[in-house]
Amino acid sequence: DYGPAPEDSAIVRDWLHRHEAGFGHFIDGAFTAPGESFAVTDPATGAVLAHVTQGSVADVDAAVTAARAAQPGWAALPGHDRARHLYALARHIQQHARFLAVLETLDSGKPIRESRDIDLPLVVRHVYHHAGWAEILADEFPGATPHGVCGQVIPWNFPLLMLAWKVAPALAAGNTVVLKPAEYTPLTALALAEIAREAGLPKGVLNIVTGDGATGAALTGHPGVDKVAFTGSTEVGRLIRRQTAGSGKALTLELGGKSPFLVFADADLDAAVEGVVDSIWFNQGQVCCAGSRILVAEAVAPRFTELLRRRMATLITGNPLEKSTDLGAIVHPVQLERIRALVDQGRAEGAQVHQGEAPEGCFYPPTLVTGVAPASVLSTEEIFGPVVTLTPFRTPEDAVTLANNSRYGLAASVWSENVNLALDMAAKVKAGVVWINAANLFDAGAAFGGMRESGFGREGARAGMAAYLSHPAPKPKQPEAPP
Ligand code: NAD
Repeated sequence: DYGPAPEDSAIVRDWLHRHEAGFGHFIDGAFTAPGESFAVTDPATGAVLAHVTQGSVADVDAAVTAARAAQPGWAALPGHDRARHLYALARHIQQHARFLAVLETLDSGKPIRESRDIDLPLVVRHVYHHAGWAEILADEFPGATPHGVCGQVIPWNFPLLMLAWKVAPALAAGNTVVLKPAEYTPLTALALAEIAREAGLPKGVLNIVTGDGATGAALTGHPGVDKVAFTGSTEVGRLIRRQTAGSGKALTLELGGKSPFLVFADADLDAAVEGVVDSIWFNQGQVCCAGSRILVAEAVAPRFTELLRRRMATLITGNPLEKSTDLGAIVHPVQLERIRALVDQGRAEGAQVHQGEAPEGCFYPPTLVTGVAPASVLSTEEIFGPVVTLTPFRTPEDAVTLANNSRYGLAASVWSENVNLALDMAAKVKAGVVWINAANLFDAGAAFGGMRESGFGREGARAGMAAYLSHPAPKPKQPEAPP
């Protein structure tokens, strides 16, 4: 039960009101005075929520300088002391979880049910999990040392969760951080900075600089940054790879995807339909590992399509703060236009577009597209919206060929009651993560990351810790990537 949401909303309104003059950056344990700023809006209503500072090169430099100064002291703490700080941070986030969930929903447009029941619990779990790593680090990675200062840039689809994925392992390993949140969704990162201060995190250990891609580029290119961690589009990932090449900086990239969702004839079709709901209609499909290509066995394709269309018709798109809402707002009108244009293009190419309902405004209905050619833009481009294609296949071999016909390799989901078939598919599909009879399951103890143009490096678990260390132990217990 969610309790009275209006109470939580009132706390958020008070907080936004207190910051009416605008937000500065969080550098060296304090907020700077607001500078040249941009407006941050609620995509569901278009209302301006806050004004946030556009980070300059000098701002980034000040944050990196603070992180550099704090790093030796932070790394010199015994692991259990860094753990104590991370446990405290996790507890404080937990105490503010309802506030953060409402703020996240206002800023990003995602349904409150998701921010409360998925994003925030995963954030807290991630910080607790990495507090544990800080305690056992010296044993688990003998001789390893932190990189130093991490420059981290994150996208808008899971603002606080992506922050936790980046910050928790970096700090556990003894690095200090300068993080730039996405320009559409910087508010929970700024709230988290306040929470970190309240939790007693030493100054300079975590710094937040807001701004757009130029601020991001100033950070990832800064000579004082030792390790760059980026989550976002493949295009920007490519720019950062070029920018950091030859610089000696460590680099991990979590990029886009066009993940297949394979349904075999013996699958539990009702469960698979719910899997699609979790896979492509979660967070309006703005999920890097969204199962955006359904590949279904010919024998059950008509029945599966019918079941899916019926389920799609029951989904509610609308006010993200309503607890009955299944799909909230698209993060920004620019993204909405992009989704519309891609679906229109697919329609013009001859695809059949089946849609649920959506209100006026920055909303897009759940959408199922059939009759798409493999070369069609809808089959190849990451749409990053609630749009899924459905293509029948004949044999398991055809399924593998279709699944791997992509420049990406982030995730895949396989549905079958035959465990041998499912495991065989998991081995043959080129993806960093494969779920069997499940989709979009995340855990701090399970490594996540892609292959091909979905990037490299892992987040979470042992492999994720290793990415924040120099000279990790030579024989990790978990492989970097599946065979
Ligand atoms: P984006 O690449 O446009 O922006 C991501 C971040 O990079 C933002 O903070 C932005 O300000 C910053 N940025 C932009 N240009 C930059 C530059 N030249 N140098 C440094 N930073 C720069 O992506 P987006 O539109 O915000 O996010 C959507 C994309 O992110 C999708 O492609 C999605 O698949 C991907 N994504 C991947 C994962 C993953 O784990 N693999 C997770 C979430 C999102």
